[in-house]
Amino acid sequence: MKIAVIGTGYVGLVAGTCFADSGNDVTCVDIDERKIKALQSGVVPIYEPGLEELVKKNTRENRLSFTSNLTAAVGAAQVVFIAVGTPEGESGDADLRYVLEAAQQIGRALKQYTVVVDKSTVPVGTSDRVREAVAAVTKVEFDVVSNPEFLKEGAALDDFLKPDRVVIGTTSERARKVMAELYAPFVRTENPILFMDARSAELTKYAANAMLATRISFMNDMAALCEKVGADADAVRKGMGADRRIGYPFLFPGVGYGGSCFPKDVKALVATAREFGLELDLLRAVERTNERQKKLLLAKAVKHFGELAGKTFAVWGLAFKPKTDDMREAPSVELIEGLLGKGASVHCHDPVAEPVARRHFGDRIRYSAAPYDALQGAHALFLVTEWNEFRHPDFDRMKSLMVQPVVFDGRNVFDPKLMRERGFTYFGVGRAA
Ligand code: NAD
Repeated sequence: MKIAVIGTGYVGLVAGTCFADSGNDVTCVDIDERKIKALQSGVVPIYEPGLEELVKKNTRENRLSFTSNLTAAVGAAQVVFIAVGTPEGESGDADLRYVLEAAQQIGRALKQYTVVVDKSTVPVGTSDRVREAVAAVTKVEFDVVSNPEFLKEGAALDDFLKPDRVVIGTTSERARKVMAELYAPFVRTENPILFMDARSAELTKYAANAMLATRISFMNDMAALCEKVGADADAVRKGMGADRRIGYPFLFPGVGYGGSCFPKDVKALVATAREFGLELDLLRAVERTNERQKKLLLAKAVKHFGELAGKTFAVWGLAFKPKTDDMREAPSVELIEGLLGKGASVHCHDPVAEPVARRHFGDRIRYSAAPYDALQGAHALFLVTEWNEFRHPDFDRMKSLMVQPVVFDGRNVFDPKLMRERGFTYFGVGRAA
């Protein structure tokens, strides 16, 4: 099939590449000329394991190309995906500016019957608005389908190639057939394609993200209580997760959820409900817990040190989670801004996110290519992102580099008892001090 993907970010690039890899002829479009030039010369502008190799392979085999010419790409396509950003709007709602602009541009470029697929995360009713925007500028036949994306950054290829489920919202039989054919190679493990109406598909995406955010905040509330009553959140987590009705995923206490999806999607869902006269109290509490959690490590440091001015702190991990360079809404940003605001110096290390961090912090903080270098002269280490390479460090070497052997472990990566035996002052999340 001939496919155009509008928006070549984390979602568009992964989706386009995977559709090309299953034999389709894919053109990825972006308004960002620099991004397109980089991709045309084989440089992938984001860090995602395995993506660069797959992009190169499919480009070489002429199934994948990149352009900023939307008109040509859409005119030739049978299926057009909208995968542009839907950032947080002024009142917490999703800003649909990019989606509706793309819809108009698509409408003007249509040449034959086309399935226009919304892959961006959009509020209930957006497929109607996309249909109206396209119909206003074309007489060509088309269908609009809602096909939300559930991939996780850091495991995006695997998630896309072997999805738990594919959700497709449409009432058009013609569009349904096209979508079923397109996704057939990815559901050979018998995982389902769930066909439903567009509104249900749109809401499914928000409901799924809100549920995951709720589990995180729930566990963070339990961790806060553990600290008060002298219980161990990790033991409680294991005890809860062993119940098959509950399960283990997304029950890790930590420094709060971040990234480009959970924070904005929870807010947008609350805003949608409010528009319809419904107050989602549970999700507002989820947000409040998360805001408190993002301040937790700084609060622990203030409690331990009192004055932070003039001290140096090492930060391991900047990305909002491991295996990505995405720092959107990352807990590290709030921590580092807090440390700088209190007059401390920050020396950080992340295996891949340094270039992204430099764009945000510039030379307000120092960067190290190796984790141990960041510890030189540090009064404490904050472990913020649980990259695997941080799990088994040389603790003696760490101690020899630091001014004081103090560790604030925002992901409960280290064993508190062993840390104390090794001579560290150790603070975890939801663990007895
Ligand atoms: P992104 O910011 O990485 O990429 C969006 C791209 O769209 C940018 O490169 C931008 O230049 C481009 N763009 C904007 N308007 C355009 C236009 N008119 N024509 C061509 N290109 C245009 O965003 P993302 O992280 O890929 O997210 C895209 C959507 O997918 C969002 O709605 C997001 O909520 C959703 N989503 C994201 C993830 C994730 O993990 N990142 C997962 C699932 C769903």
